[in-house]
Amino acid sequence: MSSAPFILIIEDEPTITEFLKTGLTYEGYQVLVAENGRDGLDSLKNHDIDLIILDIMLPDIDGFEVCRRIRAKGINIPILMLTAKKEISDRVKGLDLGADDYLTKPFSFDELLARIRALLRRAGCRFESSELRAANIILNTDTREVFVDGKSIYLTPTEFALLELFIRHPRRVFTRETLLNRIWGYDYVGNTNIVDVHVSHLREKIGDKPPRLIRTHYGIGYAFYPEDE
Ligand code: CA
Repeated sequence: MSSAPFILIIEDEPTITEFLKTGLTYEGYQVLVAENGRDGLDSLKNHDIDLIILDIMLPDIDGFEVCRRIRAKGINIPILMLTAKKEISDRVKGLDLGADDYLTKPFSFDELLARIRALLRRAGCRFESSELRAANIILNTDTREVFVDGKSIYLTPTEFALLELFIRHPRRVFTRETLLNRIWGYDYVGNTNIVDVHVSHLREKIGDKPPRLIRTHYGIGYAFYPEDE
């Protein structure tokens, strides 16, 4: 498992912090609560925070000021602002100061979760199992094991990287150039035929027969289709 994202809640109302802390902990997140702006800023120094839920109304410096100070330090952790106010001007001000998103109280926990997931995804912080599944394939990014129909198979690092990329981006058509850049690196100098060779080996190892999981888009590249269609 990759470690759970660490969420800092900066909010003084106990009912809200309790509601958030309980719900987010249940969802598997690590949660830290700061009851005022200064404590919140201090927490950022001492913890590796992935996302901040920031209330505007705080007992000392307000959420706008906290947001401004965080961004002034060059910290680009996603910030989701909360407020009881519905005024559009607050929303604009928060976003101007560098908040990434905005939620008006009262809000549903599902709505909050959806925003959090979107922000973490945008920030490239994936909260997911190390085990990826698609069709009859299980790929474990921690142990580097691959199973097809429950049987372990061996993939070279390049083949593993290709398969992981395909599974993470189903149906996306990758050009040979994109695959070269993503798997072999931007400075790779050589023929794109090397991509075809590796895809061919990969197909063989995962027993990929027509209609294939990894399909050729002629003259373009490849895409992965985990579902029959
Ligand atoms: Ca508050």
